[in-house]
Amino acid sequence: MPSVLLEQAPAFAEVGAGLQLGPNAVRVLSDWGLMDALQACAAFPEALRVRDARSGASLGRLALGAMALVRHGQLYATLHRADLHALLLHAVQRRADAVQLRLSSRLAAYEESGGGVCARLEDGDSVKGDALIGCDGLWSRVRTQMLGEQPTRATGHLAYRGMVRAADLPPALRANVVTAWLAPRLHVVHYPVKQGDWFNVVAVVQGSLPAGDDPQAWTHDAHASDLRRVLSSACTELLTMVDAVADWKLWALNDRVPMQGAHEHARGRVALLGDAAHPMRPYLAQGAAMAIEDAWTLGRLLQGTDEHASRDWPALLARYAQTRWQRNARVQARSQRNGTIFHASGPLRWGRNTAMTLLRERLLDNPWLYGGPPEPA
Ligand SMILES: Cc1cc2nc3c(=O)[nH]c(=O)nc-3n(C[C@H](O)[C@H](O)[C@H](O)COP(=O)(O)OP(=O)(O)OC[C@H]3O[C@@H](n4cnc5c(N)ncnc54)[C@H](O)[C@@H]3O)c2cc1C
Repeated sequence: MPSVLLEQAPAFAEVGAGLQLGPNAVRVLSDWGLMDALQACAAFPEALRVRDARSGASLGRLALGAMALVRHGQLYATLHRADLHALLLHAVQRRADAVQLRLSSRLAAYEESGGGVCARLEDGDSVKGDALIGCDGLWSRVRTQMLGEQPTRATGHLAYRGMVRAADLPPALRANVVTAWLAPRLHVVHYPVKQGDWFNVVAVVQGSLPAGDDPQAWTHDAHASDLRRVLSSACTELLTMVDAVADWKLWALNDRVPMQGAHEHARGRVALLGDAAHPMRPYLAQGAAMAIEDAWTLGRLLQGTDEHASRDWPALLARYAQTRWQRNARVQARSQRNGTIFHASGPLRWGRNTAMTLLRERLLDNPWLYGGPPEPA
């Protein structure tokens, strides 16, 4: 019996922004046989550079590229979200025998019985299966039904996101690196996508959405003048990058407190995957990577059992939850901590800069993270 993928949107599409994928996520894509497809659309930066947004001074550097291969056994990739989405979609479409894709199918609720789960759709239709995996994002309905109403946490941070063609940038800004610019109460990150033909630029500032805007909307038009005002004391190089972006979109960043236990990942025949389980701030660039790791773990566990009929789904999903929850909680906590460090002022900022000078790459590298995903427990 094929899996059924229910998507509320009328078409598969991704909005224009970039993603970094650490070696842990690239390892999964490679394991899924998608390395050629990734190489055809991604960039593989040589380094991560950290700079002071005001003075332009270099604060730290982590070698990526070949060094990521040496240290972590896989590359560090940066790509457009639409490209990642397309390569995953094509991979699924090649397995039409195993996965049935259903668009315009918005889940309203589910009912679990001893023998299976019935997903009820908003249009009145229903779909029955052995288990339900809720990968329905930050505002997950599956989560709300499984764990009860728990409001998301507004971080008070806004992300401006835009793209710029490499050909429109001066040579110094076209380098094949991920650059993070830090200043009190804000930071800006840019990196190449589409094999270096474009750059993705994200500026995170402290603030809130204009009154009346829907925080659940994925994108809002942003006024470049607002961003320019916040960046008034930034160095010329950073302003050149920001000014090169023609169109900005705005995201309000929400998250949840880190997971508290395996019970938040799975109960009975229902499990949560990705942002539905562990939404995080994007300051470790690992939200999508953790969703990909979750999916890989589930796949490994499914490979370990043969017949659908003989699967003990509650036991399988309990193992999935045990394998994943602590790692996801740790990444959530580290992402939050990074935000505080990135936006630091006063003594914390001084301490951060000193630590980067003294500890160099050790401070920026994450072997515990990039060496993953861990095998199922
Ligand atoms: C500014 C910013 C920068 C980021 N940078 C990075 C990065 O560099 N690297 C990284 O790894 N991550 C990054 N992330 C995080 C990453 O975007 C998310 O973690 C990732 O998109 C989560 O994927 P998901 O599939 O769990 O959820 P989503 O991407 O939210 O997908 C959920 C899907 O479920 C569908 N859906 C929702 N409700 C229903 C329903 N009731 N019925 C049917 N379908 C439904 C939605 O339409 C959607 O298609 C960043 C996030 C932000 C905001």
